[in-house]
Amino acid sequence: MKNIYGLTLSDMEEYFVSIGSKKFHAKQLFDWLYIKRISEFSEASNLSKDLLNKVSEDFSCSKLKIVDIQKDEDVRKYLFELEDGEHIEAVLMLHDFGNSVCVSSQVGCNMGCKFCESGRRKKVRNLEVYEMVLQILMIEEEFGNRISHVVVMGIGEPFDNYDNVMKFFTILNDPFGLAIGARHLTVSTCGVVPKIKEFAKFPLQVNLAISLHAPNNEIRDKIMPINHAYPLEVLMPALKEYYQKTNRRLTFEYVLLEGVNDSEECAKQLAELVKGMNCYINLIPYNETHNIEFKRTKIVQIMRFYDILKKNKLTVTIRKEFGGKISAACGQLRSKKEEL
Ligand code: SAH
Repeated sequence: MKNIYGLTLSDMEEYFVSIGSKKFHAKQLFDWLYIKRISEFSEASNLSKDLLNKVSEDFSCSKLKIVDIQKDEDVRKYLFELEDGEHIEAVLMLHDFGNSVCVSSQVGCNMGCKFCESGRRKKVRNLEVYEMVLQILMIEEEFGNRISHVVVMGIGEPFDNYDNVMKFFTILNDPFGLAIGARHLTVSTCGVVPKIKEFAKFPLQVNLAISLHAPNNEIRDKIMPINHAYPLEVLMPALKEYYQKTNRRLTFEYVLLEGVNDSEECAKQLAELVKGMNCYINLIPYNETHNIEFKRTKIVQIMRFYDILKKNKLTVTIRKEFGGKISAACGQLRSKKEEL
């Protein structure tokens, strides 16, 4: 049976029309689901019993199971169990600009980035739309406060589950749904070029982040297998085209790995690579995991790298770290749970 939280407002309108009922019931039901937060269809008291019976024959409104929560001052990490027993994680971060949640888009990931915990474990399946929506709803309910920002940077490659992720954004953005402004939504990809082109046509102004992590093909090939399929000479023009079409500023993420991509020469090459682009570079201190050989770049070297980019007049930030103590890095909690 399908889960109701996977429907966009227009899917739901179509559904009501298809069963010979009225379109406007969709807005009413959205209000019950996303504003009043019912847990049973029968609580939707302005819809008739007959109609609700029909809806509950066709859809479930069951939620996910939260099986673990780890809390720190400014971060909470949630481990969810899905209906088929799989586990995924989401992280709530309390920023001064609002409350942001990092959600997973797949169980596992096939991109195989060498430094990434999720990539070490193969993709089991894509997440359904409702499984992404419920990560947000359930965190809001547990936390007791509104989520203002969402980033799809948890487990998985969102552009390998493109249609579901776009539907997820549509529901989050809908004024009758969670009403989160598109500019507060971000999707991050390792560089799946055909989907970047498709995303340029997506009607909502969702932010795009690119996991770049290397300034040349030689290094990128070694740490990110996707670079064999879409090397920098294919990726970079696609991003420029994306910018021309959308006028939306890009974010480049760059995880600093000691001795791999953190030299001053790398910083100079990176500055050259992104020259002239309207972008923002986010340097990410590597979160070491016990399974992997990569080491975090020391802070002095991070600062050197940062200074070179700054001298080249780039907009750069060093990512604030959340949750080091509580295994909040990509895929770590799931791996702990499953003892892998
Ligand atoms: N697959 C997508 C989104 C998920 S990963 C992508 O590649 O963009 C989110 C970000 O975390 C990516 O930039 C990824 O490279 C980075 N990342 C993965 N493991 C990390 C670690 N151990 N420490 C710091 N960043 C990591």
